[in-house]
Amino acid sequence: MKNKRLLLHICCGPCSMAPLEQVLAAERDCELFFFNPNIHPSVEWQRRLDNALKAAQHYELPLHIFPGTDEEAWRKRAAEGKERCKFCYETRMQKTAEFAADNGFDSFSTSLLVSPYQDREAIIRAGTAAAAEYGLEFEAHDWRKQYRRGQDLAREIGLYRQKYCGCIISLEDSKFYEKICAEHAQLVQSS
Ligand code: SF4
Repeated sequence: MKNKRLLLHICCGPCSMAPLEQVLAAERDCELFFFNPNIHPSVEWQRRLDNALKAAQHYELPLHIFPGTDEEAWRKRAAEGKERCKFCYETRMQKTAEFAADNGFDSFSTSLLVSPYQDREAIIRAGTAAAAEYGLEFEAHDWRKQYRRGQDLAREIGLYRQKYCGCIISLEDSKFYEKICAEHAQLVQSS
């Protein structure tokens, strides 16, 4: 386990904190991968990337960034009534597996596995299927017990902690919709 090269997909800064603490405590050879086209609008995508970079710097780990956000694809999926979150996990795990295989990693995992609010079984199915396709191992860690610890660590280093999952539909469904839109408008203005 110790010498296996692990690529950890990270969905945002706060969710990566506890998994990274665990991974580094186990002395794993680990690098990070940010591919999250599910984060909308683009100002929010940038905000989460900035915070993922802060987490990577905090743990002194390299972060590979695969840019791009795709609001249309998620809107289309929702309009078709298809399983949006399944598509979301599969899209991200596929690209992570492809990058891991192309860059000599033995296994991959995702910080999504820290969240009690995500569909763990669907994430594991998506990760395992992508791993099989590329001849890799998907590490199905259960970091949910460290979720609060990760949020505390995120607070300690001043990371932004988002109030919605990521896609435009989850933003529109959020009870904080207006507050978040006002924050986005401010960020756009100041950029
Ligand atoms: S709710 Fe979250 S997991 Fe589901 S599609 Fe939206 S961003 Fe992806």
